[in-house]
Amino acid sequence: MVRLVFRKFREIGTVSGVLKYLVYHDLQMPVRRLGKKHDQELTWQRPNRMTLLNLLHHPIYAGAYSYGRKKLDPRRQKAGRPYTGQVVQERSNWHAFIPDHFPSYITWDEYLHHQEQLHENQMRRFTKGAPRAGTALLSGLVFCGKCGQRMQSHYNQKCFSYGCSRLNMDYAEPVCQFCVGQPIDRWVVEQVLEALKPASLEVSLTTLQHLERDRKDLEKLWQQRLERAHFEAERCRRQYDRVEPENRLVARTLEREWEEKLTAEQKLKEEYHRFQAAQPRVLSSEDLQRIRDLSQDIPQLWFSTTTTDLERKAILRQVVQKVTVEVQQKSEQVRVDIQWVGGLVTSGTTIKPVAKLEQLSYYPDLMKLVKAHVEQGTLVKDLVNVLNETDFRPPKRIRMWNITAVRSLIRRAQKVGGTQQSLPVPLGHWWRLKDLASWLGMPGITLHRWVTMEQVLAKRNEKGKWLVWADETEVLRLRKIRQTPRSEVNRNKWLEQFTSKKPSG
Ligand SMILES: [Zn+2]
Repeated sequence: MVRLVFRKFREIGTVSGVLKYLVYHDLQMPVRRLGKKHDQELTWQRPNRMTLLNLLHHPIYAGAYSYGRKKLDPRRQKAGRPYTGQVVQERSNWHAFIPDHFPSYITWDEYLHHQEQLHENQMRRFTKGAPRAGTALLSGLVFCGKCGQRMQSHYNQKCFSYGCSRLNMDYAEPVCQFCVGQPIDRWVVEQVLEALKPASLEVSLTTLQHLERDRKDLEKLWQQRLERAHFEAERCRRQYDRVEPENRLVARTLEREWEEKLTAEQKLKEEYHRFQAAQPRVLSSEDLQRIRDLSQDIPQLWFSTTTTDLERKAILRQVVQKVTVEVQQKSEQVRVDIQWVGGLVTSGTTIKPVAKLEQLSYYPDLMKLVKAHVEQGTLVKDLVNVLNETDFRPPKRIRMWNITAVRSLIRRAQKVGGTQQSLPVPLGHWWRLKDLASWLGMPGITLHRWVTMEQVLAKRNEKGKWLVWADETEVLRLRKIRQTPRSEVNRNKWLEQFTSKKPSG
């Protein structure tokens, strides 16, 4: 197993690649459990990023004995998790280092090479992560509306996005959801600027006071419940104390009752702590003053060229506690909830750009409308005007319909209405690339990319042209992938779905 990991790392070069490989082949990893209780017992666990990284970084697999490789940094330690907060030291700072001490899986040179590769990967990620097209202002504040995990910010050349990808990164599970970041940031900033306008701010602060009052009432109720529970436990104790020792039977009954009351009291206390923990941050009078001050000059401050993104982030954090995002399946709508500091919530929907017409939530209605006009014989240029007066917008955040876009709509409408052709079956299910692409209604170049990525089964004919294999099930699978938003198609899904029976030839 260990050998396999090293071999795969040499081949693939990234930890996430190795992880995906292990997950795909349903392989488990051996892990020695630490701590007195487990006595270094060997267990098999599903592969994860941390275990792989430990394996690749540890010099023992290259036969070296080392001591003092990691040092505890109490500031990084997480409460209740004794093994966290370890920081790897430079090799010169290790307490002991003896090469060639144990039998090894890899040579020392290979080990060094791996370290270099890991370092390089990390640097690449950092430079890739350098914000080029604006910064994700909400990074760290965005939570997944589906599973509740914190979402990560991802950057690429043109834009940034928020992804719920923790489980993907750590365990190579499918990405939970993914969304382009700018529309979310823009919407939240709009709400923040609106909320900080003096007029709306006073309304919010009054509401907040009401909320605070409710919370105080609740708190009072809790205190009463706690007192009652405590009083009952105490009464039982006193009764128990008063029983004469010879009344053993009575004593036993009372003892049991006392124990029950104590347990109930303990349970109530725990519940109360949970209640407290779930309460939003209470605003102190200084907090309120700071927010009022902020509201005086926020618009100038926000749009000023001298204000940095870091400062904008700081402003947002003064008022926003968290933002929950839920992408509505395969459509352009994203539900966003802003939880303000203090506990108020603002909900709304924003639009993320989708690449394809079919992903628009109003696609069926749009097609119905277009079809009706086609049947009436409306001219293309009139239809452009008709559509521009409706709320239907083209995909990719394009504002207006134009002639080309409407023509393509009409073609679609005619196809939808026309008789569905039956599947042409080429010899042995081997299609010419061009034919299959046009049957799937996709550009040939995209299908060609799938061929080069080995996502489809393909071979060259005697003239060197690509032939792609697809039976009926495979055509359905490809069509499904084609309709999935690109962000949701990851390699895993590709592989999982490729279950069609493949030809032997
Ligand atoms: Zn999620």
